[in-house]
Amino acid sequence: MLQKTEPSFRESVDIMFDRAAAVMDLSPGLCQKIRVCNSTYTVRFGVRLHGKIETFTGYRSVHSEHMEPVKGGIRYSLAVNQDEVEALAALMTYKCALVEAPFGGSKGGLCIDPRKYDEHDLEQITRRFAYELIKRDLINPAQNVPAPDMGTGEREMAWIVDQYARMNTTDINARACVTGKPLNSGGIQGRIEATGRGVQYALREFFRHPEDVASAHLFGSLAGKTCVVQGLGNVGSHAARFISEEDGVAIVGIIERDGGLWNDKGLNIAAVLGWMAEYGGIKDCPEGRYVAEGASLLEAECDILIPAAMEAVIHLGNAERIRAPLIIEAANGPITAGADEVLRHKGTIIIPDMYANAGGVTVSYFEWVKNLSHIRFGRMQRRAEEARTRLLVNELERLSADKGLGWTLSPGFKDKYQTGSDELELVRSGLDDTMRTAYQSMREVWHARPEVTDLRMAAYVVAIDRVAQSYRSKGL
Ligand code: NAD
Repeated sequence: MLQKTEPSFRESVDIMFDRAAAVMDLSPGLCQKIRVCNSTYTVRFGVRLHGKIETFTGYRSVHSEHMEPVKGGIRYSLAVNQDEVEALAALMTYKCALVEAPFGGSKGGLCIDPRKYDEHDLEQITRRFAYELIKRDLINPAQNVPAPDMGTGEREMAWIVDQYARMNTTDINARACVTGKPLNSGGIQGRIEATGRGVQYALREFFRHPEDVASAHLFGSLAGKTCVVQGLGNVGSHAARFISEEDGVAIVGIIERDGGLWNDKGLNIAAVLGWMAEYGGIKDCPEGRYVAEGASLLEAECDILIPAAMEAVIHLGNAERIRAPLIIEAANGPITAGADEVLRHKGTIIIPDMYANAGGVTVSYFEWVKNLSHIRFGRMQRRAEEARTRLLVNELERLSADKGLGWTLSPGFKDKYQTGSDELELVRSGLDDTMRTAYQSMREVWHARPEVTDLRMAAYVVAIDRVAQSYRSKGL
């Protein structure tokens, strides 16, 4: 039966959980234990700004501690509330399980419009929020490790790690208390692009399986497909750039806060981003035709729709009119449970958020490991790898000369082959492997079990099963 009223974000996640749990062999007790959010801490704190005290409300939810530390971003937005934070924390539990990042799920949020404050004010607010969480071990390298999310980025993470280090002067692993940091504060190459890069790898993997592509009534490869992207923030801008510049996808539409932009031939994303950086929006950008009612482009004809802005943008009010046969959820929860049902009935293929945007937490995992090992990836191996490949190339050249074979290597081969992997290459390789493996685990369940009707259900089945195994092995 189709949903008639729109559930809240957390209820949406629970509905999707229940669909999957219904086809699994779980005891009702264990099922309930996995589903519920373990705890939510609410803090109200005051900060003196320009002589006046302002009070802020923040949250940190821990959904599941079947593995520790728990992990999940901190979001700055006026829409932050307990329901949303708990929904996002639950998604983190399942996401980490799906991509085999050894973490439980958590999420945090501060109810604030960050654009209304200058950098100095934001630093004071962030440090105070971090102080409240750190003193309760809700930020801690072994227990709870935040990361950026909507409205936060490297800068905020640098303030948080510094605040933690000031309060824990003898903790040698202090840098592992948060991920998504700038490189000079213990960050890792490739973290900023990671979620968008993961979306690209997810699409590439989907298009490696003709059977799956056909189920979306598409055919062929990623190249030449048309795409609409909503939200050119961290996730959306990277995903749009990578798939248009490297995979030949035409981004025909973009939706931002102040409207939409359309170009049948495909937009030049770098140019649009340059415009946005200069003028603060996409209005009047000469790269495409401006559409004042931006959200209407969600319903435009295209092969792939990438909602990468926020939750609940595809809802009961517009789901029926969505024409894209393939949706990849780069944002968390962009499709409500009701809309999900409508789209499934229509035959739309949805690559679910828990998988599609897992690139961020995957590279956060690499960053956390780097911080605990206190050494950059590739530092020990890179030159050794180069020496070995050089040996082989020299030997081939010697053989060719000695035997008069006249072999010549292709131009550029020597340089490319003889370069050892640096941190960025290793991070991308680890991310690519993770996205491929996770997709395969989902599609295996999707195709092997008739009662698993879609990729989202498959993702939940895989994730819940892993969390359940973890609880069982603890004797619960
Ligand atoms: P961001 O703040 O960098 O970007 C959000 C973008 O969406 C901005 O450009 C904003 O102008 C635009 N936007 C906001 N409201 C809009 C609306 N109503 N219509 C159109 N555009 C709108 O945030 P982000 O970090 O890119 O996160 C986006 C989504 O991806 C969120 O759902 C977040 O939870 C999810 N996510 C982010 C990460 C990460 O690493 N940053 C990881 C996993 C999931």
